[in-house]
Amino acid sequence: MVKAKTTLTFYGGVNEVGGNKILLKDRNAKILFDFGVSFALKAKFYSSPFLSPKSEESLLEFGMLPKINGIYRFERGSETEIDAVFLTHAHMDHAAYISFLRREIPVFCGKTTKIVLEAFSKIHPKGLEFNFEGINFHSFRTGDKIAVDNVEVEPVHVDHSIPGAYGFLIHTSSGTIVYTGDFRMHGSKPEMTQEFVEKAVEAEPVAIICEGTNMTGATVSSEREVMKKVNRVIKDVNGLTLADFARTDIDRFNTFYKAACKTEKCLAISMRQAYLLNELRRDKKLKVPSLRDETLRIFQKKKKYAYKWEREIFDAFSYKVLDSKTLSRKQCNVILVTSFYDLEELVEIKPAPGSCYILSASEPFNEEMEIDHQKLRNWLKHYGLPQYHIHVSGHIMPLQIKKILRKIGAKAVFPVHTEHVDLFVRFMNDLPSKMIGVEKGKAYRILG
Ligand SMILES: [Zn+2]
Ligand SMILES: [Zn+2]
Repeated sequence: MVKAKTTLTFYGGVNEVGGNKILLKDRNAKILFDFGVSFALKAKFYSSPFLSPKSEESLLEFGMLPKINGIYRFERGSETEIDAVFLTHAHMDHAAYISFLRREIPVFCGKTTKIVLEAFSKIHPKGLEFNFEGINFHSFRTGDKIAVDNVEVEPVHVDHSIPGAYGFLIHTSSGTIVYTGDFRMHGSKPEMTQEFVEKAVEAEPVAIICEGTNMTGATVSSEREVMKKVNRVIKDVNGLTLADFARTDIDRFNTFYKAACKTEKCLAISMRQAYLLNELRRDKKLKVPSLRDETLRIFQKKKKYAYKWEREIFDAFSYKVLDSKTLSRKQCNVILVTSFYDLEELVEIKPAPGSCYILSASEPFNEEMEIDHQKLRNWLKHYGLPQYHIHVSGHIMPLQIKKILRKIGAKAVFPVHTEHVDLFVRFMNDLPSKMIGVEKGKAYRILG
């Protein structure tokens, strides 16, 4: 039997949204692409906080961590077998489990991803599943080509709901393999995704690993449309505006920031968001406003203990820190960025009649989220707050994927990051490319 020169093994992101962990072997090179937490698999066995994994053994037992020799720092003895890890972006379903990897393994990621992960490391308490201390980060930009043994990895920026997201062109001895990571065409910078697609077409790849999050429940919208709708709602709110969106979604932050400027209200962000934004200012391309900007305020939740990083923000910007009491007095001038875990603050804020809640994130898509969402609805009902849902997905839509796959014309397509692999395969089956319904843990030979 001829030994396969190049193989791909998918240890996560298979029939699930996120948890991507892809192992590429090519001659002597062994490279991991993404190493994220699988939230869906975790929810199958655990319910935090009282039933949580207590050790790495539990994570190995249920396949949340793949059984690959010599990659974990909790294992002793053998030498590391992995040459490098490449991260597409800083979402936890792609990056969190680098926590477990041996620190001598280099982790390559975009400059912005490095900033975000290092900021997270500072503002989130360390735990079994989250510890980035001592990680050997190496950052890249579009245009770089990183050689690992005989493989060359070419990162190209894509648009996604977090800044600094990349797709990869992986040049192997069997030809180029394209990995999309998470991407979309309807965000604020579609030209980045366009550039990635053009480069992928030029590379004439043998295979493409493509995300397919939105195979059910696809929509037609854009970040621009979100902005218009947010403006329309906010200008008519005569009480407090509460806005719930992902802290790392800087496009969405900008949308609310612009709406605040336009309506002459101020945007009150959390301490954590303030810290993250301040760090992201190091990436000049992102054009994140300074915390000194007069539209921005920092909201301080009631708590007994402040961490060092919180005290630093407080000391530097004390003149713009609001607590619930102060905010309560000037609520019609405020858009408060909030989350499910901040609802307790409403007791002191006492939203005035005419206040509104804008959910600017995805609707609940599993049982646990549905339970929390019901609690949110109870809070909103109690305080008389109507809920507007204004959102657009961070992921590309099915017809756009099909167009792109047709254009790229890779020999084989591996759908990942979707609960609907079979649907994906059937929908794409009239394309000339071979659709592969990926199975977890199986090594696929890549034929050049
Ligand atoms: Zn993802
Ligand atoms: Zn993502």
